[in-house]
Amino acid sequence: MQSASATRAKLDPQFYSKSKNDPSNENGGAPVQTVIDLRSLGKRIKSKQILSDVTLQISNRVTGLLGPNGAGKSTLIKILLGLVRPTAGSGRLMDLDILRDKLKIRQLVGYTPEDDCYIDGLTGIEMVQMSGQFFGLPGREALRRAHEVLDFCGIKQERYREISGYSTGMRQQVKFASAIVHNPQFLILDEPTTGLDPEERERLLRRVRFLNRQFGMGVMLSTHILPDVQLVCDDVIVLAEGRVRAHQSLASLQNVNRWRLQILEVNSNISNAFTQSLRQPGLRVEIAIDGSWELIVEDESRWSKDRVAELVWRAAGTMGATISCFSPAQESLEAIFLKAIGGTNHAHS
Ligand code: ADP
Ligand code: MG
Repeated sequence: MQSASATRAKLDPQFYSKSKNDPSNENGGAPVQTVIDLRSLGKRIKSKQILSDVTLQISNRVTGLLGPNGAGKSTLIKILLGLVRPTAGSGRLMDLDILRDKLKIRQLVGYTPEDDCYIDGLTGIEMVQMSGQFFGLPGREALRRAHEVLDFCGIKQERYREISGYSTGMRQQVKFASAIVHNPQFLILDEPTTGLDPEERERLLRRVRFLNRQFGMGVMLSTHILPDVQLVCDDVIVLAEGRVRAHQSLASLQNVNRWRLQILEVNSNISNAFTQSLRQPGLRVEIAIDGSWELIVEDESRWSKDRVAELVWRAAGTMGATISCFSPAQESLEAIFLKAIGGTNHAHS
């Protein structure tokens, strides 16, 4: 993060407006590294276990914290920020201890809570300026920065109107602007797309990605909306019932060594025999949804693709089956999510 903060320029509205597209695949020149390190975090309220044994290393890329309502996402975020005290475990954010260095963490981190958090009677610009002052910027500097971040967020003359009259989308933008006004090194967004229409949602997520790619600002984004994760995240943590069920890069989560096979034979005896001969330790075979002798072969032993292909061709040769297609079958994030949280959406063999 150090080199990221060095290269992180002051917010420059002209610069932002020029750079509408994701300019690079880099973290603002910063090396990808662990910035949050959590060890066996737990949270119990009365007899209810809200988080259990949460051990995570989170990088300075864009991480999606994905889970159904009630999974414990907001609680985990509040623990990171020192707003809720864990009942077990420990954690560090950059070089800071989440139990002891709450105030320093609040300076380094931008945060948008999931609920509305504006003060009645304030205009957009006043709200963001106040947020800047809260983080220690002097009045004039806070005002200058407030204008910059509101420009970045696409809030124009409406900034001079009271927030109470804003649409949900505009409130979300002002909340976002307030969170980045002090140029944080890490950004935590709790359900930032709630209430946004599809265009607003995409614009907000692209801004998030831009801050990461251009300035190396690490981001953690909690959501129960899968497409949000697919659009913007590099890594995904799946949380369900207070436990981490998966934590991987989006790319590796979607690549689970699955292949789609199509057999030409119309003779179902051959096809059945082929399927049976392929079923062996380490390979799971299921008939694809339409049942037209399309098979999904999942390599649970993580063999090489060549090894699986060899098994498939050998089985086909023995049974006299002709394979017309052998191609990777990517699992949708939705299927992975359902599996991770304990549901199923397809038949297991
Ligand atoms: P999420 O953000 O994933 O929807 P939360 O972290 O808000 O989940 O909540 C996780 C669970 O903990 C929920 O069942 C919620 O009712 C419970 N919970 C959260 N805060 C409290 C609290 N202060 N007292 C009692 N239960 C709580
Ligand atoms: Mg929540």
